[in-house]
Amino acid sequence: MSKGLLFIISAPSGAGKSTLIERVREKIGGLGFSVSHTTRAPRVGEVDGVHYHFVGVDEFKGMADRGEFAEWAMVHSNLYGTSHAALDAVRSEGKDVILDIDVVGAINLKEQRIPGSVFIFIEPPSLDELEKRLKARNKDDDEIIRRRLKNARQELEKAPLYDYIVINDDLEEASAKLTSIIENERLRANEPEAMESE
Ligand code: ADP
Ligand code: 5GP
Repeated sequence: MSKGLLFIISAPSGAGKSTLIERVREKIGGLGFSVSHTTRAPRVGEVDGVHYHFVGVDEFKGMADRGEFAEWAMVHSNLYGTSHAALDAVRSEGKDVILDIDVVGAINLKEQRIPGSVFIFIEPPSLDELEKRLKARNKDDDEIIRRRLKNARQELEKAPLYDYIVINDDLEEASAKLTSIIENERLRANEPEAMESE
């Protein structure tokens, strides 16, 4: 049953976060995805309003100035943000919210100590495997992949700040772990305590 929880999920790009989130949402109900705004160009197959709201830099900055984002960050040279409207859209359906956001955005939300926030970090088994997955995904050019791998090292350092770390080695095993984290959090009698910041 939904309790209005926020599942904040971060991972270095290519670790398999989107794949895992999709699998978990197929397995358990009552989970809505917070559709972020971004200034990056859509990848092949991405649909505006489903995967992201794709906007220009001016529009994004206007929203930020008007306080329309719960959090936003510059990631891999593009702007990404979670709007209050995106969160409300999921909550109004009576669902728990999944947020797929970077470590800067996650730390920002952690500092806000929103009750019912659960922080989950997805780790790749190794940096070599991460590189393989980024290449296998075949959606980003070499320069973008290089930038994402460089950022991955810094992002991995933030993993201990999260409530849970799931290593995505075997996909079935990792999705079972993510599912059980969500189900366990839904059974909690009390709100998870806000974590200490760095
Ligand atoms: P992210 O959302 O973290 O950037 P994706 O979900 O797009 O990553 O996954 C990156 C690539 O790795 C995709 O091609 C995906 O199919 C593949 N992948 C995801 N999880 C695994 C896994 N456990 N083992 C092997 N490949 C995986
Ligand atoms: P991608 O371009 O691969 O879809 O996402 C790149 C990174 O941006 C990922 O780490 C993803 O989690 C992060 N991201 C996506 N949406 C948001 C958001 O709304 N806020 C923040 N801070 N990061 C986001």
